[in-house]
Amino acid sequence: MSALLHDLVSPPDEQDWRLAATCRDMDPDLFFSGGFATQRARTICASCPVRRECLDQALAMDEQHGVWGGLTLTERQAVARTRRRKRRPPTVQIRR
Ligand code: SF4
Repeated sequence: MSALLHDLVSPPDEQDWRLAATCRDMDPDLFFSGGFATQRARTICASCPVRRECLDQALAMDEQHGVWGGLTLTERQAVARTRRRKRRPPTVQIRR
């Protein structure tokens, strides 16, 4: 129930994506234990209807631990790099 950890930052309103989280009533340890639990967490996240929102919030909060949006820290860092690269304006070569 890592979505509930987001609740600690701000409580959800009735339209909040966190209310639809598949993990909402699950043990948070499943998402933070590593090892075999990581694969189990990924499986749960794979069918979560708010996976994208969860990932976006984890990236915005720079979450350093656990599985969020189905991704580990290393995978989230790769997504963050890709997103930053896409936002960067194209480099212009100036000839002298
Ligand atoms: S994507 Fe995973 S961690 Fe995120 S809310 Fe859904 S089940 Fe929970």
